[in-house]
Amino acid sequence: MLRRMFISVLISALIVGCATSPLGRSQLTLLPDNQMVTMGVQAFANFKSKLPVDSNSRVDAYVDCVAGAITREVGGTWEVVVFKDESPNAFALPGGKIGVHSGLLKVATNQDQLATVLAHEVAHVLAHHANERVSQQLAVQGGLNLLQAIANPTSAGGQTLMGLLGVGAQFGVLLPYSRLQESEADLYGLDLMARAGFDPQESLQLWQNMEQAGGGQPVEFLSTHPSHATRMRDLQSRIPSALAIRQQARAQGKAPQCSG
Ligand SMILES: [Zn+2]
Repeated sequence: MLRRMFISVLISALIVGCATSPLGRSQLTLLPDNQMVTMGVQAFANFKSKLPVDSNSRVDAYVDCVAGAITREVGGTWEVVVFKDESPNAFALPGGKIGVHSGLLKVATNQDQLATVLAHEVAHVLAHHANERVSQQLAVQGGLNLLQAIANPTSAGGQTLMGLLGVGAQFGVLLPYSRLQESEADLYGLDLMARAGFDPQESLQLWQNMEQAGGGQPVEFLSTHPSHATRMRDLQSRIPSALAIRQQARAQGKAPQCSG
């Protein structure tokens, strides 16, 4: 009897834990969405308490314009904050949070390049990559204590969680996304920016710029990315379909004009 109960609990856990990424890959995601939202919101608050916010209203308006065009495609409420940090980085968190380092704007030199990065980050969220990473960690380490640790980002568990959510560099733990997750974010991000009316061809220039600017810094996009050549080849092969998506978007009047 007990054994049967155990098996049925196990089976329901597996059903709950099975998700499919936007590109059709099956994933193990053990945490309910609301738990991920709570962690994302807390991680964003941690980040804000650590890094100064860039209060240049012109920059804010520009980043808001690009981010807004993308998030309109996915729905929900999103908070966008520009942080004063020279590293060319950005991130997005469950719970609708987007952070952009001011240094990114030197690498992403037009609206379509900035859209490439922000769509890549939002794609990580939509593809439940953080949930997948925390789930893997739970499977290895066990214990729900880990999940409480997000409220204390300087503790070992808190640092690990910040890392798993993709915002750990400033907290001493850089845990890069897997190459598979990076590829998914690249390709799904390409579709997403095209849906918003941005030019997907600019993604090639953006990743070129990023490769040149990387220079050994702990930049999310370069940490475990597929090799530069692979990334370029994969993007190139998806650009024709992304251009078709963009053409549809343009026909619907989606033509963002954001200037910095
Ligand atoms: Zn990424």
